[in-house]
Amino acid sequence: MNIVLMGLPGAGKGTQADQIVDKYKIPHISTGDMFRAAIKNGTELGLEAKSYMDQGELVPDEVTIGIVRERLSKDDCSNGFLLDGFPRTVAQAAALDQLLADLGKNIDYVLNIKVDYDKLVERLTGRWICRDCGTAYHTIFNPPAVEGKCDKDGGELYQRDDDKPETVKNRLDVNMKQTQPLLDFYGQKGVLEDINGQQDIKKVFVDIDDLLGGLR
Ligand SMILES: [Zn+2]
Repeated sequence: MNIVLMGLPGAGKGTQADQIVDKYKIPHISTGDMFRAAIKNGTELGLEAKSYMDQGELVPDEVTIGIVRERLSKDDCSNGFLLDGFPRTVAQAAALDQLLADLGKNIDYVLNIKVDYDKLVERLTGRWICRDCGTAYHTIFNPPAVEGKCDKDGGELYQRDDDKPETVKNRLDVNMKQTQPLLDFYGQKGVLEDINGQQDIKKVFVDIDDLLGGLR
């Protein structure tokens, strides 16, 4: 079963990815892992990608797609794969279709874990850290006993710049703008499935499992 996993930051993609690959025995293929492996193995494309990254430049699509092709051609993908973080653009999605067709494969599902914008902001801005011991808290998931104070040493809690509402909203806005054309592309192809990511984590996986179960 060939799956592309999508979702905005804070949607809980990582947790669901872990459960999908565990249950369906397919490899979890993230862009970062793919690049790291190609570079470590010293493949021609890996070295090419590295030369761009070393100069702080974006790796061109043709190199990225070549690396994806190499990865998806491996034996462990014969029963399927879970792609995470690729494709990022419609051009990459079209190239992915083409390379899958070359390999006699296709995408079965694009799973889009959906969570309302306000909820994402709430999840992503909830992190507070103790200035003294570095313990992390979350205003919703793991709040300190006394607001603004560390449970262990009473130290003052602060918010990293990355977790501040302004930064978080900006990150979400950029992400939404980038992914919308991709969602439209897959929606038109009829492979896009929205998953309600606002429920309990376990229930989110039950929904995914119900959907994928039809393919077993
Ligand atoms: Zn502390």
